[in-house]
Amino acid sequence: MRLILLGPPGAGKGTQAAILMDKYAIPQLSTGDMLRAAIEAGTPMGLAAKEIMDRGDLVSDEIVNGIVAERLDDADCVNGFILDGYPRTIAQAEALGEMLAQKGMGLDAVVEIRVDAEELVARIVNRARETGGARADDNEEVLRNRLQVYLDQTAPLIDYYQRAGLVKSIDGMADIDTVAAAIAAALEG
Ligand code: ADP
Repeated sequence: MRLILLGPPGAGKGTQAAILMDKYAIPQLSTGDMLRAAIEAGTPMGLAAKEIMDRGDLVSDEIVNGIVAERLDDADCVNGFILDGYPRTIAQAEALGEMLAQKGMGLDAVVEIRVDAEELVARIVNRARETGGARADDNEEVLRNRLQVYLDQTAPLIDYYQRAGLVKSIDGMADIDTVAAAIAAALEG
């Protein structure tokens, strides 16, 4: 199963990715996690990415395309994967399409998790509080920027993948188990 999870920050992509990972025994490929690992490791890429991420802007397509291309070559991706937070721009979607074509792979579905923007801000502000503000990109102003970046640059991917007939839209405002069940039903249907 090769999936993309699409949805604004705070929609619960990471949570649903973890559930899908168990269900299908395939890895979750989160570019956000990979970038945070690079920051943690103090690599030049991490240093370059940190400021951009702290503002809630997007890291360059070249950087994220590069890390995903490398990750897709790992042995655990042969049976599938869940892309979480990638692609985030049309250019990234096109690059991904080329990577997969080269490997003779196709996508099975793009799961769009739909949520209400105001509710989202509240959710993430709460998450920031609970984690003691551990994530520098979780304050409200940055969050609003991330939402705007999502609307401007990432939401157009829904149309892009709709043309390929791949999009399954799920109501992300329900509780975790209900959302998980809706995704399972959409993927099996
Ligand atoms: P969330 O899951 O909370 O929506 P992520 O952890 O996916 O956020 O991403 C955090 C930040 O990492 C983004 O705001 C962006 O700066 C950077 N990032 C992650 N994935 C990408 C990507 N595919 N393209 C560009 N930047 C990215």
